[in-house]
Amino acid sequence: MRSLEENLEQRRLAHLYRRREVLASAQGIEVTIENECLLAFCSNDYLGLANHPEVVRALQEGAARYGVGSGASHLVSGHSAAHHALEEELAEFVGTQRALLFSTGYMANLGVVSALASRGGTVFEDRLNHASLIDAARLARAKVVRYPHADAATLAQRMAAARQPELITTDAVFSMDGDVAPLAALTALAAKHGARLLADDAHGFGVLGRHGRGSFEAQGVELAAPAIYMGTLGKALGTFGAFVAGEAALIETLIQQARTYIYTTALPPAVAEATRAALRLVIKESWRREHLQQLIARFRAGAARLGLQLAPSLTAIQPVMLGAAETALAASRVLRERGIWVPAIRPPTVPVGSARLRVSFSAAHTFDHVDRLLVALAPLTRDAA
Ligand code: PMP
Repeated sequence: MRSLEENLEQRRLAHLYRRREVLASAQGIEVTIENECLLAFCSNDYLGLANHPEVVRALQEGAARYGVGSGASHLVSGHSAAHHALEEELAEFVGTQRALLFSTGYMANLGVVSALASRGGTVFEDRLNHASLIDAARLARAKVVRYPHADAATLAQRMAAARQPELITTDAVFSMDGDVAPLAALTALAAKHGARLLADDAHGFGVLGRHGRGSFEAQGVELAAPAIYMGTLGKALGTFGAFVAGEAALIETLIQQARTYIYTTALPPAVAEATRAALRLVIKESWRREHLQQLIARFRAGAARLGLQLAPSLTAIQPVMLGAAETALAASRVLRERGIWVPAIRPPTVPVGSARLRVSFSAAHTFDHVDRLLVALAPLTRDAA
């Protein structure tokens, strides 16, 4: 057996070794790492709400009222009025009968899939699905059939050939590519086969659609059974946690059967209060979404002029495709020397040969920030040429 040290060395040699940066400041568009101030394009705080004074105040007041820890799982004694109110507000916002809070998005995906997939059933997965959806089907011990990225036509064939199609799972916005799933086609396919669709809108909730209701709103698709909606709260909402939204019987089933809901401590009630404040801002301040779209458009136009290879993404996730892990790492280092932080994303997070810089924008960025990023990226195309 190879030693752990040998394995680690192997990773280093393959340029796949990962290390953590230690932030001395709050995360945001400007961060401090080892006394160095960097302009950051790497957070999922798409609306710039994580440090918003109203959100911070709600957390403080929530802690003053409820303390810090929830003390137990939701089904034992950890379900507070704050959690309950947030669930009702989330359901109303996305337009479903009910919503259920989970402690993280990872656990929400695990919980839904393992509660709904049976041993003999088949779960269909987009090839580029987030790790949590992949792990979810593994945990459920379901039969897994993958389909080519966002390819509803091939999925239709695979579903027709399957014995017991039960569930389609997809990122609604793909976390490393920023492009979107064809939700109307996937919902129709699920309906046709008596299956369900789990749409993971971690990167769409709060950001996409005129009101920020997410990918269904943005694509003009009604959010109703057989679709199940999963949104996370640690990204555009700027707080922490996740929720699943759908019809009452679905939510009741999850309360009874989703193991990652039942057997874990409820998230702190103060975090639920902070999330309620963030949701109010999502609803009230549509300028955040509008400004973000303008930043994205400015970046894409500038990057096209430079000849950078972008992905077909209209969301806040704008990967610059570079290919080899080593190239992506070197590019990230070049930017860092110019005071800009954009992480290199390498396998196994993305397929081999598709390493990239994952640029992500926040409504807290300015046009000037985008221009600084473009100036810093310019040498990459010259080096490549
Ligand atoms: N789904 C997707 C598509 C994600 O990108 C993430 C987070 N990176 C998750 C789920 C997990 O959410 P959380 O961070 O709340 O566990």
